[in-house]
Amino acid sequence: MKLGAHISIARGLALACRRTEEIGGTTFQFFTRNPRGGKARDISREEIEELTKIRRQKGIGPLVGHLPYTVNMAAEKEQVYEFAAAMVEKDLRRAEAMGAEFVVCHPGRHGERLEGLKRITLLLEEQLAGFSGRCLFLLETMGGHGSEIGTLEDLGLIFSALGSPGSLGVCLDSCHLFAAGWDLREAAGVEKLKEAAEKAFGLQRVKAFHLNDSLHPLGSGKDRHARIGRGHIGLEGFRNIVNDPFFAGLPLILETPVDDYKEYGEEIRELLQLVRE
Ligand SMILES: [Zn+2]
Ligand SMILES: [Zn+2]
Repeated sequence: MKLGAHISIARGLALACRRTEEIGGTTFQFFTRNPRGGKARDISREEIEELTKIRRQKGIGPLVGHLPYTVNMAAEKEQVYEFAAAMVEKDLRRAEAMGAEFVVCHPGRHGERLEGLKRITLLLEEQLAGFSGRCLFLLETMGGHGSEIGTLEDLGLIFSALGSPGSLGVCLDSCHLFAAGWDLREAAGVEKLKEAAEKAFGLQRVKAFHLNDSLHPLGSGKDRHARIGRGHIGLEGFRNIVNDPFFAGLPLILETPVDDYKEYGEEIRELLQLVRE
């Protein structure tokens, strides 16, 4: 299984690989730039070469970049929308240069859902057409609180409006799905989720899965992450995910609230114990 966590690359890509290995992981996610602002540090060619070497030696991958939270591809305000377009353009190339397989982005927020979906589609149409790399752009499923776009149905509409380009994929998030009403604690709930994903954009378009427990109950809309087994999803829900033949083949990435990356190691061990022989 490809298990890992969200790891800081502030002190180098090679260190992020070593930390991943230290916690028993084989994949990791990182912020492409400052998540609350948008500033990015320069990453040298030497740093990327070192990353590539370590990845090959240790068998680490895929690598998943996450765009900043300040990116709103559905934004009404022109300035915010242009910032989102610039970040998508820059970070797809940044991730590609690092050799990352995927970048994940939250779809965005807009008072009018259909108008918001139109804005996202226009932005992605332009950015994906102008990008010829191998890195795939993944839209993350969201809890759907307030003006937030990101239900399976929303993503399905974006896929079909764009003609389902091969450069576009989906990243699931267990906490967000649970907030949106998908009951992962039940095997039947997981089956229903897969059927809905198949119908909306095709299950094979799902390329990554964020594993987070949920601080809030089923269908709350609120996406506050909890540590694995300590929230409302509970170990039963994660047992369903790690034993599902499709989901178990995806990079499974923890974004749980830990004080130190080493605590992810405990969660990885817990998840591995849930795997049935
Ligand atoms: Zn996210
Ligand atoms: Zn997530």
